[in-house]
Amino acid sequence: MPHDDHDHPHALLPPEPALRVKALETILTRKGLIDPEALDEIIDTYQSKIGPQNGARVVAKAWLDPDFKRALIEDATPVVADLGFYGRQGEHIVVVENTPKQHNMVVCTLCSCYPWPLLGIPPGWYKSDAYRARAVREPRKVLAEFGVTLSAETAVRVWDSTAEIRYLVLPLRPSGTEGLDEDALAALVTRDSMIGTGLPKVPA
Ligand code: FE
Repeated sequence: MPHDDHDHPHALLPPEPALRVKALETILTRKGLIDPEALDEIIDTYQSKIGPQNGARVVAKAWLDPDFKRALIEDATPVVADLGFYGRQGEHIVVVENTPKQHNMVVCTLCSCYPWPLLGIPPGWYKSDAYRARAVREPRKVLAEFGVTLSAETAVRVWDSTAEIRYLVLPLRPSGTEGLDEDALAALVTRDSMIGTGLPKVPA
């Protein structure tokens, strides 16, 4: 049966995801089920106010304060909530620490679960079929494509997020950062380094 068959309900949907979302939004708005202004505000909040800078703050603090780091690894959710980072898609946050022996990488093989209060909205590639499938099958190859090459002694551990648990990677503190304060350290922490597909920047 050809895909554009008129009896096929999917044929009525626009092909592009963005158009589908727009169509859905229009229908829900017309039915009075959603308020488009409220929707815009939620999106704006996660795009410009809540973003990777929250996670970067947490990482910088952990690099500076061993007690904070210990508490974070033990039970991250209340520790980050104390900093004001809590809310939807962040009800249960687990922090996994990179060491010279283990590099951590996060994926959601089912969909796109992500720690919103710490990192904002996930990047497009995080939601892609390719990343979701390949991150578990060939993590080293995926890492190499992101420009991350690890030594053979470093094991790669992939964490599969769920609706329940959202992971944040605590990257290794780069050398040459001794004496830097929290703001300077936070500026080195990239979004990808907290997903595990990147490393922190090194100081200029
Ligand atoms: Fe998901």
